[in-house]
Amino acid sequence: MSGNILPTVEILGIPFSLLNTQETVEYWKQLIRSGEPHHVITANPEAVMMALKDPKLHRIFLQAAQITPDGIGAVWASRFYGTPLRERVTGADTTPLLLQAAEREGWSVFLLGASPESNALAVQHVQTRYPNLRVAGHHGYFGDQVKAVLEQIRTFAPEILLVGLGMPKQEYFIAEHLQDLKVPLAIGIGGVIDVWSGKVKRAPKWCQEWKVEWLYRLAKDPSRWRRQLALPQFALRVLADTRFGQKWKD
Ligand code: UDP
Repeated sequence: MSGNILPTVEILGIPFSLLNTQETVEYWKQLIRSGEPHHVITANPEAVMMALKDPKLHRIFLQAAQITPDGIGAVWASRFYGTPLRERVTGADTTPLLLQAAEREGWSVFLLGASPESNALAVQHVQTRYPNLRVAGHHGYFGDQVKAVLEQIRTFAPEILLVGLGMPKQEYFIAEHLQDLKVPLAIGIGGVIDVWSGKVKRAPKWCQEWKVEWLYRLAKDPSRWRRQLALPQFALRVLADTRFGQKWKD
C-alpha cells in the first residue's frame, strides 16, 4: 500500500493525512500486514518549515507512506485550505495504541534513540506496560557505529521501528536504511522515548486541550525559543499561500 491512496490535505505543498488517530493506527496495521517497508512521518509546523528549506528532506516527505499532523498548527492551517483536519495525530498519542495492537498481534518493536539511560528506561517501561510484547532498543548517540546498530536491528527483525533522533535526523536515518532493514513500519517519533523513560513529562492535559502544548514545552525549555520561531513563520506562509493569493518568496 502506498501513501498516495490516502486522503490528504496539502499544506504548503506537504500532503497531510486526513485520518484521525484511531484510523491512523488501523492504517498502520494494514501497512505492517503488507510486509513491505513504509516510512511514516509525524510532522509539526517546525518540521514543515525544515522540509521547505531542505530539498533532500522535502523529497523524503513526499515519498513517505503517510505524514500525520503532529501539532495544532497543521490542524489550524488545514481550514485555510478548505479541508479541515479533525484532530492532531501525534506520535505520543498513536504509539501506545500501536504497541497495544503489536502485543496482541505478536509484532515486535525496536526503539532507536535518546540517551543510553533514557532508552533503557523506555524499553523497561514499555516491557512492563505490555508484558507480552517483544521489545528491544538502542540509544541514539551511536556516532560512526551505525553499522553495528543496523546489524542489531536486522537481527532483532522488528515489524515496527520507532526512531527518536529528532527531526530531521530520524527521517534521514529511516529514508536511508528502510529498504535494507525491511521493517514494514518505521516512524519518526521525536522525543517520545524520553517521555516513556519518565525523563521528560508530557504537557498536562489542560495544555493539550487548550492547544498550548507548545507553550508548555517552551516554558520548560526556554532554549527552544529559536526553534519555535518556525511557528509564526509557518502561520505567515499559510496566510500568504491561502489568503493573499500569492506564493511566499524567501
Ligand atoms: N537524539 C538522539 N540522537 C541524536 C540527537 C537527538 O537520540 O543524535 C534524541 C534526543 O535525545 C531526544 C530526541 O532525539 O530524545 C529529540 O527529541 P525532541 O523533543 O527534540 O524531538 P523533536 O522535537 O525534534 O521531534
